[in-house]
Amino acid sequence: MAQVQKPKRERSCIACGCKATKGELVRIVRRSDGAVAFDATGKAAGRGAYVCSEACFEKAVRTKRLDRALRASLTEEDYERIASDMAGAIRGATG
Ligand SMILES: [Zn+2]
Repeated sequence: MAQVQKPKRERSCIACGCKATKGELVRIVRRSDGAVAFDATGKAAGRGAYVCSEACFEKAVRTKRLDRALRASLTEEDYERIASDMAGAIRGATG
């Protein structure tokens, strides 16, 4: 299997595929205990997935890409909690 070597510090949004540096994307993490959460610091331990915006988060949820990226089955509650945490963080950063 051919594997493309990805640049280490560049991440891409799981919904639209746009590339951005880590600070420009928001991270969702599946922690070692299995809980999935919005990762405001971008440094939480666990398996992470990146999206560039709230719209892309919703898209990733709808297309199940988030579940696949995290290798987890997220519940409706997880989605809502992450979406609201993310909205708060995004608005806090820009407002
Ligand atoms: Zn995106």
